[in-house]
Amino acid sequence: MKNIIIIGGGISGLATAWLLRAKAQASGKELEITLLEKEERPGGKIRSIKADGYTCEWGPNGFLDSKPQTLDLCRALGVDGNLHRSNDNARKRFIYSGGELHQLPDGGPTFLTSRLISWPGKLRLALEPTPFIASAPVGVDETLADFGRRRLGGEALDKLIAPMVSGIFAGDPETMSLESCFPRIAELEREYGGLIRAMIMLSKKKKKDIADGKVVSSAAGPGGVLTSFREGIQYLSDALATSLDGVVQTGITVTSVQRGAGGVYQVTSSDGACLEADQVIMASPAFAAAEMLATLDNDISAVLRQIPYASMTVVCFGYRREQIKRSLDGFGYLIPKKEGRSTLGTLWDSSMFENRAAENNVLLRSMMGGACFPEYVNLSDDEVVARVRQDLQMTMGIDVAPEFVRIFRHPQAIPQYTVGHGERLQKLAYLLKSHQGLILTGNSYRGIGLNDCVAAAEQAADEALAKI
Ligand SMILES: Cc1cc2nc3c(=O)[nH]c(=O)nc-3n(C[C@H](O)[C@H](O)[C@H](O)COP(=O)(O)OP(=O)(O)OC[C@H]3O[C@@H](n4cnc5c(N)ncnc54)[C@H](O)[C@@H]3O)c2cc1C
Repeated sequence: MKNIIIIGGGISGLATAWLLRAKAQASGKELEITLLEKEERPGGKIRSIKADGYTCEWGPNGFLDSKPQTLDLCRALGVDGNLHRSNDNARKRFIYSGGELHQLPDGGPTFLTSRLISWPGKLRLALEPTPFIASAPVGVDETLADFGRRRLGGEALDKLIAPMVSGIFAGDPETMSLESCFPRIAELEREYGGLIRAMIMLSKKKKKDIADGKVVSSAAGPGGVLTSFREGIQYLSDALATSLDGVVQTGITVTSVQRGAGGVYQVTSSDGACLEADQVIMASPAFAAAEMLATLDNDISAVLRQIPYASMTVVCFGYRREQIKRSLDGFGYLIPKKEGRSTLGTLWDSSMFENRAAENNVLLRSMMGGACFPEYVNLSDDEVVARVRQDLQMTMGIDVAPEFVRIFRHPQAIPQYTVGHGERLQKLAYLLKSHQGLILTGNSYRGIGLNDCVAAAEQAADEALAKI
């Protein structure tokens, strides 16, 4: 019987193991699968911590239902009945600018009346579909900042694009690659000659699809409805791990992956144990995979080390509801870097998912750090609390101390798809050709969302199975 070792028990490794086993069973292939995870608990960045009536998400707080991957996995796993979609509040997203929170406009009329973008900024944006805008430079891996300045103007870059990049990647638009971070946007520009044109054409297509009776996405917010579980998103990783009982081994740090006689892979862990496998799927972050593969192939390791990571500190504050004077009707807000605040933004978690706090309480989750403020992950707890309080006072007028505080630090939180990322992926694909049965998956390569990780897991499972 062939055996496959998966290294890393975050959503990527767990989903790969689960899908691989399901696909092997469906195709009648006999397979022994082992998943090795360094920590004592599986889940990686996924962790839902319950304390004092609050449910704090350590990392992700859900996935968008506009893509099918995670939903399909939940259905196959039999946990779709427990899914919990965020309520309508999550549609309203805000940007803090010029001393106030502005609701993100959701269309032409609200955009015109919004005070988020100045009139010169609006006029610049209005040029977007015209021939005055330069086309995408050919053969250049454009940064998100260059793309934003070129197509939408400097103000839209600062107030719309940069906050979005920090909200998703905790990233710096001056270094991130448009093609690698948002391939769909690059594609829309190529296909339709501009973003506004693309939106008009796609909206016409959607109307036609509705008229023709074709199913359309249930998207309510930008890109779908944020979806989780009543117990928190950890319910998903727990369900996968439980279903994979006997496959998942925790508390095992893999130190190296090498090849022995006959090309068999030898996976060594820090306790000195060595397991053999016909195939190895690396589902750990790129920097960890780089260490494990250093002896096997130093060129692969060198490319993996070039994928940088941004740090992030997640700060949960709980309050009694009556202590918050302003409406918490919304998803939360992001803060443009130019505002000079310490936090990247704050999510109103208990507004999106009401059971994240007890009935008369609210839970706010602020983010600090990211690629623009890497040193913040080293701040002391007192400094973190003081800075978050200062920002909440400035943005939402909250001048009381929270009754509940939790701080989670992620020194290497999110991979950064910087300029050259696409080329690095091509190099990896080329180098991996010399190592039949060695597969890389996870959030370091083609998308960081949970949906992306599950999609990559499915590809990894298919690739592994095809080689058997
Ligand atoms: C603060 C934060 C908020 C986020 N919010 C969202 C969100 O709302 N929605 C969304 O879709 N995405 C969100 N993301 C992104 C998403 O959570 C991640 O991209 C995803 O969880 C990564 O999963 P993964 O399995 O690829 O990696 P990880 O979760 O990092 O798992 C990798 C695993 O490999 C293990 N490992 C490492 N080295 C070794 C070794 N030597 N031996 C054995 N095991 C090893 C690690 O311990 C870890 O468990 C967020 C991320 C962060 C940090």
